[in-house]
Amino acid sequence: MRLSQFHLRTTKETPSDAELTSHRLMLRAGMIRKLASGLYIWSPLGLRVLRKVERIVREEMENAGAVEFQVPTIQPKELWEATGRWEKFGPQLLKIKDRKDQVFCYSPTAEEAAADFARQELSSYKQLPVNFFQIQTKFRDEIRPRFGVMRAREFLMKDAYSFHLDDECLVREYENMKAAYARVFTRLGLDFRMVQADSGAIGGDASQEFHVIADSGEDALVFSTGSDYAANMEAAVAAAPGPRAAAGEALRKVETPTQKTCEAVAALLGIELSRTVKSIAVMTEAGFVLALVRGDHDVNEIKLGKVDGLQGYRMAGEAEIATHLGSEPGFLGPLNPAQPIRVVADRDVAAMADFVVGANEVGFHIAGVNWGRDLPEPEVADIRNAKEGDRAADGGELRVARGIEVGHVFQLGRQYAQALNATVLDENGKAQVMAMGCYGIGISRIVAAAIEQNHDDAGIIWPDAMAPWQVVVCVINPKQDESVSAAAADLLAELQAAGLDAALDDRGLRPGNMFADIELIGVPHRVVVSERGLAAGTFEYRARTASEAESLDRAGLMAKFA
Ligand code: ATP
Ligand code: MG
Ligand code: MG
Ligand code: MG
Repeated sequence: MRLSQFHLRTTKETPSDAELTSHRLMLRAGMIRKLASGLYIWSPLGLRVLRKVERIVREEMENAGAVEFQVPTIQPKELWEATGRWEKFGPQLLKIKDRKDQVFCYSPTAEEAAADFARQELSSYKQLPVNFFQIQTKFRDEIRPRFGVMRAREFLMKDAYSFHLDDECLVREYENMKAAYARVFTRLGLDFRMVQADSGAIGGDASQEFHVIADSGEDALVFSTGSDYAANMEAAVAAAPGPRAAAGEALRKVETPTQKTCEAVAALLGIELSRTVKSIAVMTEAGFVLALVRGDHDVNEIKLGKVDGLQGYRMAGEAEIATHLGSEPGFLGPLNPAQPIRVVADRDVAAMADFVVGANEVGFHIAGVNWGRDLPEPEVADIRNAKEGDRAADGGELRVARGIEVGHVFQLGRQYAQALNATVLDENGKAQVMAMGCYGIGISRIVAAAIEQNHDDAGIIWPDAMAPWQVVVCVINPKQDESVSAAAADLLAELQAAGLDAALDDRGLRPGNMFADIELIGVPHRVVVSERGLAAGTFEYRARTASEAESLDRAGLMAKFA
C-alpha cells in the first residue's frame, strides 16, 4: 500500500460538539465524517480499522463453533408485534412505511428474525445446538446520539443467536460465548472486564456485559478484590442491601403503573406522596432538579438538570420546573403505563455528581447523590457511594471503575421462541419450544473505545491488532532521490513478506508533517528511510509508545518485528 494512492485527510480542528477524546481523534485522523446526527461515513482509513475488528470477531465466533448467516435490516411489523417488542422497544425503534403502506422497522437487534429463521430451519433436536451469527448494521433512534460512533444511531454489531433443546445446553453455550468474547478482547489488545448485568429490555435470565475500562466510560462498574465479584452499577444496586438500594430495586422493578412508580420514586427520595399526585417534580439540595414527566407521549421520562442558584429540597410547581429544565410548560403529566421509563440528563450533570449512569438507557440508573434528607447516611454496603478503600461484603476492597459496554451476552430462555412458536421434535417425537441465547458485540463502538483507552497528546495509539497498518515506512524526499524510494519499496516488500500489514508513506510531505500524521492515526511502528540513513546503512525506527527513535541496521530492524 502506497499512501500517495490512498486517501488520508487529517485535520487540526474539530467541531465543538466533539467532547470525547476518541470522537475528536477519529475526526482529526479522518476516520469518520458526520452525515447527520448519529450517522457516520467511514473513510477508507476508518474502514481499515473497523474491518480488523470485524475479522477478529468473525474468526473467534467461527472458532467457537458459531455459523454466519445474515438477516435483513428492514423487518416486518408483524414479527415484532408477535413478541410484544413493537411497543416495548419504545422510540428507539425506527418505524418505516413502504409504498403499499406496509409497516416495517429497521432492526435494532434481531432476536425475532433469528427465531423466525430457526422455526423454518430447525425441526429436530438432532440439529441442535446451533449458534447463528451475523455482522450487520443496526439502527437505534437513540434519544441522544453522541460521542461519534460510540453512541451512534446507525452502528455495526455482531449479533449471535443460539438454539437449544434444554437449559443445560444453553448454559454451556453461554459459557462458550463468554470464553470467545474474552479471546476477542484479548486479541484486540484491550483492557477489559466482564461484569454482572441486568438483562433490561431484551429480557431473559442470566446476563453479563464486557466493558473496556476507560475513565470516560458511561457505565460505572463495581469490583471487589475479595472475590471474582464484578457488576455494573445497575446490577450492583439491585443486589446490594440497604434502604437506598431497596428503593432502587423497587424502582427498577416497577411495572410502570403510574401510582406505583410515583410511590417508588417518592420512597427513593424520602418524601411523602399525596394520593392525588400523579407526577413529581423535585429540587434537590445539590441544586439538581428532578422531574417525573410524561415525555413525548410515547415514553415516560425522568428529566434531570443542574439548576444554578437554587437551594433546598422541595416540591416545585410545574411552571418552575419547566423553566429550569428548558421544557415547554405542560410537560408534566401522568405516566403511560404501557411505555418504558427513561432517565434523561445532561452529561455535565452526570459527570459532576455521578448522578446518572447510562442516562439514555431504558430504566433507572441512579448513582451516589444526596437523594433525600430522610434517608440514613449510606452504609459501606451501599456500593453507589463506594470509595477505594471501602470494604465489600466479602471482606475485600471495593473498587469502582468506569467502563464502555462493548459486549453483552444473555440467556434468553424461551420467551422469543415461545412467542414465535419455534419448536423442534424431541427424542420422543414431541414438539418442544427451543431455549435461546443471544450475544452482541458493538464492533463500531470498539473502535472508539480502543482510542478512549489508548491515546496521548499526539493522537491515537492502536494496539497492533486494530491498527490501520502495523508499520509505515516513511520516505524522506521520495521525488528527489530515486535510490531512497527504491530502498523504501524494497524494505516494504520485506516487511510484507514477513507477514506485516505495512504501508509506504511516499506522499512527499515534509518530515514533521508526515510524522505528525502517522502518529495521529496511531500507527504502532514507524520506519524512516532517508539518504543519510542509507549512506550509514541504517533505518530510523520508532515505536509509537517510545519517546525516542533508534538507528538500526536492516537485521536489527527486522528483529523488532520477529
Ligand atoms: P448501551 O447500554 O450502551 O445503550 P445496550 O445495552 O443498549 O448499549 P445491547 O442491546 O446490549 O446495547 O447491544 C449490544 C452491543 O451493541 C452493546 O454492548 C454495544 O457495544 C453496542 N451498541 C449498543 N447501542 C449502540 C449505539 N447506539 N452505538 C454503538 N454501539 C452500540
Ligand atoms: Mg442502549
Ligand atoms: Mg447497556
Ligand atoms: Mg447491553
